[in-house]
Amino acid sequence: DVLIRFRGVRKEFASGTVAVEGLDLDVRRHELLALVGPSGCGKSTTLRMVNRLVEPTAGQILLDGDDIGAGDPVALRRCIGYVIQHVGLFPHRTVAQNVATVPRLLRWDRKRTTDRVDQLLDLVGLDPATYARRYPHELSGGERQRVGVARALATDPPVLLMDEPFGAVDPVGRRRLQIEFRRIQEDLGTTVMLVTHDIDEAVQLADRVAVFSKGGVLEQIDDPVRLLAQ
Ligand code: ADP
Ligand code: ADP
Repeated sequence: DVLIRFRGVRKEFASGTVAVEGLDLDVRRHELLALVGPSGCGKSTTLRMVNRLVEPTAGQILLDGDDIGAGDPVALRRCIGYVIQHVGLFPHRTVAQNVATVPRLLRWDRKRTTDRVDQLLDLVGLDPATYARRYPHELSGGERQRVGVARALATDPPVLLMDEPFGAVDPVGRRRLQIEFRRIQEDLGTTVMLVTHDIDEAVQLADRVAVFSKGGVLEQIDDPVRLLAQ
């Protein structure tokens, strides 16, 4: 059951750099697919085409059978969460306000928003009574990353794009966050594309791994644990 389908996707930037070329890739519903490969081989560009932060030069990306290029990018982004390494919390807004960003845009009422914020903070392991009113500079790196995940999940998007989401977290906190994130992802059934250069992270977390080389997918691995044996 394929949720996201790339067909013959190419991205050439205005600079002339061809970041992605002839990309065919299927992302299955409810899976966590890791994109791994050397720096500069087009992983982030691939991710950013899904929420249309980058527009493909050629080819097609289908979400649940529909060409994502045909619709409204703002509506598209509301059903696709996005978490990046330096998570970009709004510095002058509290943790609760950050998590409530998309619900507010969607004009959820106050009670629904507050309940959801509390639920999400619990989910990512931050006690709402302790954390809701803090500002980002009052958090550790790992805590900020948790808030970023909570914010991205606020409206329970079917798709979550993650680009080195744990990269800025210290090694001990990272392992814990990875395990907790995997549990949350399985509970919610979120379809995740995870860009990482950390092969261990990919193998530990992912249902499948897409190995990139310059511009496209070299190999798809359905049984990532087998990578460890190599
Ligand atoms: P990865 O995520 O695998 O490290 P990227 O997708 O970030 O790779 O980049 C692929 C290639 O496209 C690189 O050569 C990079 O320099 C180039 N690139 C990425 N974004 C842009 C951009 N906005 N403008 C021009 N070139 C870009
Ligand atoms: P780390 O876990 O990376 O060592 P810190 O030492 O920065 O993080 O923070 C440890 C704990 O103290 C965390 O729970 C963090 O939220 C809290 N904390 C850090 N700075 C502040 C602050 N200015 N006000 C309130 N709590 C803070």
